[in-house]
Amino acid sequence: MLSYRHGRHRNLRWIGLVCSLFLLVALFVATFGWAVLQHEGYVGGLFRGCLSAKSPPDPNNIQRESRTLSIGWRPRGTPLSMNWWPRFVLTGKGMWKITLPLWIPTLVVLVPTVVLWATDRRHPPDHCQTCGYNLTGNESGVCPECGTRVSR
Ligand SMILES: [Zn+2]
Repeated sequence: MLSYRHGRHRNLRWIGLVCSLFLLVALFVATFGWAVLQHEGYVGGLFRGCLSAKSPPDPNNIQRESRTLSIGWRPRGTPLSMNWWPRFVLTGKGMWKITLPLWIPTLVVLVPTVVLWATDRRHPPDHCQTCGYNLTGNESGVCPECGTRVSR
């Protein structure tokens, strides 16, 4: 029971770490550069610190089969221009634009991940609390892997 919960915790903190790194890279790209994909009039990507997407400006005049990807870095010395708050705009003509500032998901994932890594250092019972070596059946009272004295 205990070790099952422990295992789930371990998975969670690794998933959290991978997601955090992924989001931090996306936030970095969106802040100091851009990566925008345009596909059949739809535009979406990383821009101004956000993940954003919008519908074609004119739904009746969509260029089929058109796709461009634009990636770049902000020129040196230009001031940061960020959108800090989420926005969802819907116009009457069925056009929409959605903007999600990446600091929000980054914070939501990063904070619990840091807490998990900071608090979940303990190894399961019957394992060495220093190195995690399985001490089931150990009678010497000393971990054979790292030499830590085992309290029983
Ligand atoms: Zn050990």
